[in-house]
Amino acid sequence: VGEERIFNFAAGPATLPANVLKKAESELYNWRGSGMSVMEMSHRGKEFLSIIQKAESDLRSLLNIPEDYSVLFLQGGATTQFAAIPLNLCSPDDSVDFVVTGSWGDKAYKEAQKYCKPKLIWSGKSDKYTTIPSFDTLEQSSGAKYLHICANETIHGVEFKDYPNPKNGILVADMSSNFCSKPVDVSKFGIIYAGAQKNVGPSGVTIVIIRKDLIGNAQGITPVMLDYKIHAENNSLYNTPPCYGIYMCGLVFEDLVAQGGLEEVEKKNKKKGELLYNAIEESNGFYRNPVEKSVRSLMNVPFTMEKSELEAEFIKEAVKEKMVQLKGHRSVGGMRASIYNAMPYEGVEKLVAFMKDFQAKHA
Ligand code: PLP
Repeated sequence: VGEERIFNFAAGPATLPANVLKKAESELYNWRGSGMSVMEMSHRGKEFLSIIQKAESDLRSLLNIPEDYSVLFLQGGATTQFAAIPLNLCSPDDSVDFVVTGSWGDKAYKEAQKYCKPKLIWSGKSDKYTTIPSFDTLEQSSGAKYLHICANETIHGVEFKDYPNPKNGILVADMSSNFCSKPVDVSKFGIIYAGAQKNVGPSGVTIVIIRKDLIGNAQGITPVMLDYKIHAENNSLYNTPPCYGIYMCGLVFEDLVAQGGLEEVEKKNKKKGELLYNAIEESNGFYRNPVEKSVRSLMNVPFTMEKSELEAEFIKEAVKEKMVQLKGHRSVGGMRASIYNAMPYEGVEKLVAFMKDFQAKHA
């Protein structure tokens, strides 16, 4: 990381790899001799087609996406998918199951109520979203079209470490905040969806990975922009896609491939997470993370202080040390360090050293 860069712990939009930004900078004005910026290209021209095709093929190789799945590059954020999924998979009277392990799953559940009959089969709300249930004992609705989970709850820092096999219907996962942070067996899912702005690119791109046989059953009222069939048939080029964002995602995918793929990426993320969680544990209660150990997120690490009156000072002092966006989400307070793929190990080391220092000063 160059002198002029800070360590950005934001939950999203989040930090991007410095080498990817440098590469984009070098290609900004004249993309590979085309005489144009990617922003100026026709989305149907051969240059942009090569960009989107390469992005898709690198993503397919990273996640080992089977042939019978489509990859869609869409707009509207993950939030739009909260509506698109029931619209595409259900009739208004169909039932679906939701396991809600944090605020994002709850938002998805509420949005689905407009388009089908979702049932909340488990919620972690009464425990302030600090755990994930055991699926063996969970009662799933017979006839449910799908089971929706949020693979990583960005605000509460709760992450699935393995994925359930729904007893009925298919598994649908919001992977916005742990997408491409580790290998995933895509074949376990009917749909995986993610906003790009945490691990893989700028905001404005939403990626949907969907099993092909699920496409083509949208409700009649489904807007054309939310119909997976339209986007799949047109290779994500039905209308003008977020071209520059897709290009940036492509550069990130290329970088993840060059790092050795998602097994290597996961090793780095585990190392960073361990460093930070150990620091919290070893602070003797000065810092606290409320999440059950087995489901602590490797991407978003919320923590509070025993002396909560010190939290504002912590956040302010960290900024002076060029570590920004450590304030927790307004709904939970405290601090949150988001340590996505692009956060270097040195960033977490610096944060941990700062935490120890701060504790020594205030103990
Ligand atoms: N799902 C999760 C897990 C998120 O973290 C977010 C945003 O932070 C969203 C959904 C909403 O995404 P978007 O802002 O792209 O609509």
